[in-house]
Amino acid sequence: MAVQLPAEFIVNVDNERCRKCKRCIVSCGFSALEFRNKVTPIHRRCVACQRCAAFCPEDAITITENQMAYKYNYSWTPEIRKNILKQAASGGVLLGGMGNPKPYPIYWDHMLIDACQVTNPSIDPLREPMELRTYLGAKPDTLEFSGEYGNVKLETELAPQLKLDIPVVFAAMSYGAISLNAHKALAMAAKRMGTMMNTGEGGLHESLVSYKDNIIVQVASGRFGVTGEYLNNSAAVEIKIGQGAKPGIGGHLPGVKVGGDVSKTRMIPAGTDALSPAPHHDIYSIEDLSQLIFALKEATGYSKPVSVKIAAVHNIAAIASGVVRAGADIVTIDGFRGGTGAAPVVIRDHVGIPVELALAAVDDRLRQEGIRNRASLLIGGSIRQSADVVKAIALGADAVIIGTAALIAMGCRLCQKCYTGNCSWGIATQRPELVNRLDPHAGADMLSFLLNGWSNEIKEVLGSLGINAVESLRGSRERLRGIGLDEQALKILGIKHAGIGQ
Ligand code: SF4
Ligand code: SF4
Repeated sequence: MAVQLPAEFIVNVDNERCRKCKRCIVSCGFSALEFRNKVTPIHRRCVACQRCAAFCPEDAITITENQMAYKYNYSWTPEIRKNILKQAASGGVLLGGMGNPKPYPIYWDHMLIDACQVTNPSIDPLREPMELRTYLGAKPDTLEFSGEYGNVKLETELAPQLKLDIPVVFAAMSYGAISLNAHKALAMAAKRMGTMMNTGEGGLHESLVSYKDNIIVQVASGRFGVTGEYLNNSAAVEIKIGQGAKPGIGGHLPGVKVGGDVSKTRMIPAGTDALSPAPHHDIYSIEDLSQLIFALKEATGYSKPVSVKIAAVHNIAAIASGVVRAGADIVTIDGFRGGTGAAPVVIRDHVGIPVELALAAVDDRLRQEGIRNRASLLIGGSIRQSADVVKAIALGADAVIIGTAALIAMGCRLCQKCYTGNCSWGIATQRPELVNRLDPHAGADMLSFLLNGWSNEIKEVLGSLGINAVESLRGSRERLRGIGLDEQALKILGIKHAGIGQ
């Protein structure tokens, strides 16, 4: 007997309003709508991606949760029963897309930002000079100068730096996991806004080479698409060790998503699963990691910073210290709410730690060891709004990465079914008819508008803090206060409780 899962969502079609244009049927990537004299939903297939409702010219469609799909039970929640039924039917590992949706504490929402009162808040932060420019890379311990006043020359040779006009970088998302049009939109927006996009582990499509000054190329254990040319078609190189959504396990792009162009870009046969295991075949120690970092520096003529991306786990501070000592110029820390195209749900929802705690612990440790200047900290895995960016920088980050927020800007409705490859919005899919729905120019506009809005909001907050450069905020935890947090959390975050003065 086949296990029948109840429908999670109900598609309501108002037949009074419907003019039978069938746009909704074409819109649905999950074949949840059919035409049988009228629009007829197949509720069980609906994943609430909302594309049909968004494009119905008559506003005739609404999607609602099926409240009685599972009778109420405090202990046996609908999610738990749904998962039991799915596994009873498949015997497999449950997969999920996007980030951890569980109600763990979001520490960003328990931190409040300071403001000036009597002394110098800005009069008009959007018109006064406000510096958001950020340089990522190793900074020297000291600076040596020569010459006289008026003709001073810097003698210290600086390590290569990644220049950002806004301290927000698009997170690594591979071509394969997301569509080429989504990649193009990210690259165009990164160039326009003076920031970076990251190829993820799927290689760099030839059509994006012209954006190389705004691209970070990734080297993961699968080494997909990695050549000398690939490494040099970039502003920086990132070694992916871990990812917040799935710490301790590798990446897996199913063969059905490895079509002609994806297979060519990844340099693997079409239709084969693209597996990148958690360990790199040549890294079993910090010394091995150091060798790879310097091999990549050698391959790029020491002209680009090398980042190492790690997932936020319990021992993150010691791991980050080792990564910095191994020679990384940037350490990218991805928290457990970070997104993914596909991950085992049991890992996504139960493994790892929030990036807020990881960031505070790493920044503390690197300062205590006197090596904080040797690498920049790039953090992500739940940066949802400009306030999160400000709080992250005050906690100690140099800049942040955004993945889910960028996808939402391009239309994603968080249905979390990225792993099916049926994304109705043309983002997490390789089906040509779906990919074509995302106009890369329109996507780039939406991403640029988002960054522009955040940039203005960050300037507003800097003005209220009485400072005129994001550099002045970096690591200034005294400008943050905790609310609704226990002593232990306050201690790890290194902030006082709200209501306590200097
Ligand atoms: S898009 Fe709206 S108006 Fe058109 S067929 Fe579907 S429900 Fe009817
Ligand atoms: S899956 Fe998306 S497009 Fe299809 S019926 Fe449900 S909400 Fe509409």
